[in-house]
Amino acid sequence: MRRNKLTSVELTQAILNRIVDVDNQVQAYLTLAPEWALDQARQADERRTRGEDAPLLGVPLAIKDVLCVEGLPCTCGSRILEEFVPPYSATAVERLREAGAVILGKTNTDEFAMGSSTENSAYFTTHNPWDFSRVPGGSSGGSAAAVASGMALGALGTDTGGSVRQPASLCGVVGLKPSYGRVSRYGLVAFASSLDQVGLLARTVRDAATLLGVVAGHDPRDSTSMPLPVPDYAGALNANGLSGVRIGVPREYFIPGMQAQVAEAVRAAIDVMGGLGAQVREVSLPHTDYSLPVYYLVAPAEASANLARYDGVRYGLRVDAPEGMWETYRRTRGAGFGSEVKRRIMLGTYALSAGYYDAYYLKAQQVRTLIKSDFDAAFRDVDVIACPTAPTTAFKIGEKAGDPLQMYLSDVFTLSCNLAGICGINLPCGFDNQGLPIGLQIMGPAFGEEIILRVAHVYEQATEWHTYKPQIPTGPAAEEVPA
Ligand code: GLN
Repeated sequence: MRRNKLTSVELTQAILNRIVDVDNQVQAYLTLAPEWALDQARQADERRTRGEDAPLLGVPLAIKDVLCVEGLPCTCGSRILEEFVPPYSATAVERLREAGAVILGKTNTDEFAMGSSTENSAYFTTHNPWDFSRVPGGSSGGSAAAVASGMALGALGTDTGGSVRQPASLCGVVGLKPSYGRVSRYGLVAFASSLDQVGLLARTVRDAATLLGVVAGHDPRDSTSMPLPVPDYAGALNANGLSGVRIGVPREYFIPGMQAQVAEAVRAAIDVMGGLGAQVREVSLPHTDYSLPVYYLVAPAEASANLARYDGVRYGLRVDAPEGMWETYRRTRGAGFGSEVKRRIMLGTYALSAGYYDAYYLKAQQVRTLIKSDFDAAFRDVDVIACPTAPTTAFKIGEKAGDPLQMYLSDVFTLSCNLAGICGINLPCGFDNQGLPIGLQIMGPAFGEEIILRVAHVYEQATEWHTYKPQIPTGPAAEEVPA
């Protein structure tokens, strides 16, 4: 577009055509705004004709449906917010718009971002573009699938315990979870406020760096956003090799139950980084085993408090009861929330109740500090940590839906990053023998986004994994695709 070879209207129309061709099969979008998208594209073209430029001028992007976009429904994948149309936009969305981006629509998510497969969406399950019988990961599965299948050039997701990196891994795209406080959470519908972070999904590390540069930075409307300057992330991607970079490989992240081909591909990727000049050494994160239990106390506890606001009075669904207020609450929440959300509310309420608070919630917070100390100690010896993003490649739709513990294990390698508040990125590093993408995770210290982006970029440019795209037959949905 900068070279005047393409207009944003042409590009946006091409992406909308692609959506018409493949989204009946992938089902990544919950809401599509084609007319508004073309309007935004026309405005971007006018700005360019006037000689203006901006980092994302005319670039079509998708937004996970837990982030508010003024005037578009924000369902959070839940029936309780089916009719909710926010009167304002999230700060991250506003910054994309100011940078010239074209918003295409809202992408599917597990209900209130609770899940790892989009099967907890109250509307439908998104299909993995590499194999329609498999999940795209979650909860930002709609955003990851949209980017992987060419239905957006990039997307916003959110990551509370892995929800950007894990779907990026399962869909073979780049997924960046910034450090806690790097991107404003204003306008992000809260799940677990001390863990939630807005993240980016993109085809390449450079695209992810460009998106981060736009959305990052202090926001007076989010008191947990850090008043720190925003580095030129994309501009910092100029290193040729990895000499001088110390990469730690945590021994606790290669576990017996994981898929052997995932471990092999990640180890091979680490060897490639060694060949590019990095010093690779083993590190230990001894409290790794506690990440899952700690997360499933802290996250539901915060969720139970955050979701108390859906009472049928202030937002969305209301099921009136003649008996009065309490019965109205009960019926509204009973009808509006799905079973995973109810499970989390019950777990969280239990963990916070008098008599159990010290044994569960307080204990979990103490162990959370130990998990953070593990990373502090490791980052005294190494610059980044390299490990798998998810223990397996994309699993079958329905395979884990009835077994919450199996589903929770999908995030076993991503949860501790959120508990510690640090940053992490997924990038493709191979395929298994079924042709499904495998993800490499690179974690860095809090506000160390520059170094993880640089390491990821050097690896990406030295390999060809990011050049593969799923082959999607266009036309009506195939018979064998499960509903
Ligand atoms: N899968 C994890 C959960 O269900 C993480 C979700 C997320 O990061 N939003 O809580």
